[in-house]
Amino acid sequence: MTATAPREEQLWSRCAGCASLLYRKRLRRNLDVCPECGEHARLGAPERLRQLVDPGSLRLLPDRLPEADPLDFVDVLPYPHRLTAARASTGLAEGVVCATATIGGHPAALAVMDFRFLGGSLGCAVGELITRAAERALDDRTPLVLITASGGARMQEGALSLMQMATVSQAIAALREAGLLTVSVLTDPTYGGVAASFATNTDLVLAESGARMGFAGPRVIRQITGRALPEGFQTADFLLRHGQVDMVVQRRSLRGRLMALLAATRAGGPARSPVPRQEPASRRERLADDGAALARPADPAAEGDADTPEAGDTPAVRDAWDTVRMARHPGRPTTLDYLDSVFDGFVELHGDRLGADCPAIVGGVARLAGRHVMVIGHQKGHTTAELVARNFGMASPAGHRKALRLMRLAARLGLPVVTLVDTPGADPGVSAEEQGQAAAIAENILTLTVLPTPVLAVITGEGGSGGALALAVADRVLMLENAVYSVISPEGCAAILWPDRSAAPQAARALRLTAPDLRRLGVVDEVVSEPSSAAHDDPAETAHRLRATLLANLLPLLDVPPAMLVRLRRQRFRRFGANRVGARAGLR
Ligand SMILES: [Zn+2]
Repeated sequence: MTATAPREEQLWSRCAGCASLLYRKRLRRNLDVCPECGEHARLGAPERLRQLVDPGSLRLLPDRLPEADPLDFVDVLPYPHRLTAARASTGLAEGVVCATATIGGHPAALAVMDFRFLGGSLGCAVGELITRAAERALDDRTPLVLITASGGARMQEGALSLMQMATVSQAIAALREAGLLTVSVLTDPTYGGVAASFATNTDLVLAESGARMGFAGPRVIRQITGRALPEGFQTADFLLRHGQVDMVVQRRSLRGRLMALLAATRAGGPARSPVPRQEPASRRERLADDGAALARPADPAAEGDADTPEAGDTPAVRDAWDTVRMARHPGRPTTLDYLDSVFDGFVELHGDRLGADCPAIVGGVARLAGRHVMVIGHQKGHTTAELVARNFGMASPAGHRKALRLMRLAARLGLPVVTLVDTPGADPGVSAEEQGQAAAIAENILTLTVLPTPVLAVITGEGGSGGALALAVADRVLMLENAVYSVISPEGCAAILWPDRSAAPQAARALRLTAPDLRRLGVVDEVVSEPSSAAHDDPAETAHRLRATLLANLLPLLDVPPAMLVRLRRQRFRRFGANRVGARAGLR
């Protein structure tokens, strides 16, 4: 108690649900749940941890990472200013707090996101910290508990934040392989890249009462569909009804539920694990060895091969916004065009085996220079009628599940997978949300991190956020010179960070979404140059160059044992963490 009288708003707070004026201390005693109407107020990460873990058991994991502004991103404010303000207002170093603790005596590693910190957005540091928490769980052989609260990937870190969806997913895959339980607790709100990765690809998904979760946010869906959304859309009860969560839990029961779940797995004991435990030091050493084992053609010194034309030779640098328009050009070759020109003998396979066949994704077996491969790609079209029939290349959950089925089939048959990415993004419709769009994308990302067969991805046109990544967690990521690959569309970014959408050209430049930029950031391994004008002016020459580059990248992968392929692929995505970003990626 201080001598001065506390201001009224510190003593009282108004419930967002029923507008009751509540005594602050009483509200806190009730875990910030309104005693009148049951509204669950949002919690910061420190308070959440206090409510969940055994007193005295909390050990915070280090949260300091090198400063990272990999894109030198500026909207109306420079990104470092936004970070400084978020730190000052929350007292946190980043948007997640990670710790080890016991819950009812059961040890666990925890990562708790804090929505107050830049909307709980997933950037390189957040991804790195959650990955380290997962690795700590693996080293300690404990379960991992994730408490999510996020608007999605962090725009200011561009495609590097998109990569964090893969980085954290592969850490979760490692826990799956080790037989260790992963649990996510969805709290309000959980959207975008977080929903479409680690919030939904854990073993168990709990939703706190009042939580909303989805791939696309309600505002975006309303804008695109032009329709009012159904009552209770994307709420915890909606998610339960549509089979997307294991249970809905009131805040006062959450600790008890977690205790029961952790106890159940503990009874089984970690000894059931199919994968022998590796000492942390040796695991890291082995990764370092693997890095040297396969000469990476991505190293600048290893490039300049005459068979693999490089964009580096192109004299004029096109403006990012012009490239966006080029990537969306209706004349640009589509996946079916490339299946005809680059590959031979394509046999299309249909269906997700669960009730649908999505026209926005095509896939099947084909031959590349006589070798059988599985090709999976987004399909747009050249005319309006074709575009509408293909839903503009925006895949539904059924499309992602068809792709998943074909990836797994390829691995069983020993076929390499080649993906062709060209989508503005995953389908943001109402039924896509009902059918679990976030989880469908999340499962593809996770599966690609464990797929024991070579995977080559090519960004051929638009690489739109999570929908693109669902086909692009690969051993080698290639990109056509005039394609773009981004965490969010320039228009979407402009609408959020600038006064209005007309700032899309500025947003396009800030996002670093062009092939040369992404090559410098290491998101892309090789750029496939297009004929002097662009792909749509000379599709035959584009196909010729793509075919040569695909072969040059595929052949070395065929000799790599599957287990090493998977290790190298994970290493590829692990390096997008804040450690690497702290060293700067050498952008101009
Ligand atoms: Zn209330």
